[in-house]
Amino acid sequence: MMRLGRRLQKKDVMTNGKRICECGAVYSRTESVVSAREINNFKCAICDATMESWDTDRVPTYRLIIGPLRRPDQG
Ligand SMILES: [Zn+2]
Repeated sequence: MMRLGRRLQKKDVMTNGKRICECGAVYSRTESVVSAREINNFKCAICDATMESWDTDRVPTYRLIIGPLRRPDQG
C-alpha cells in the first residue's frame, strides 16, 4: 500500500488578482460571495471599457491602483 503524504490544499488563485485595462489602468480584483445572484458589470473609470460582466453570486470588486501611463488629453 502506498501512502502519499500529499496535502490537497486548493488555493483560490483566481480570487485575488490584478487586471490591466487596455488603457493601462491597473485594478486590483477581489471576489466576494453575495447572498443573491447579481447581474452587473464593471467599466473602467478611465476609458469606460467593460472589464468584466457577471451573472453570479460571486461578485468581483475592482479597485483602481495605478492610473494609465498616458493621459487622454495629451499626445
Ligand atoms: Zn481603461
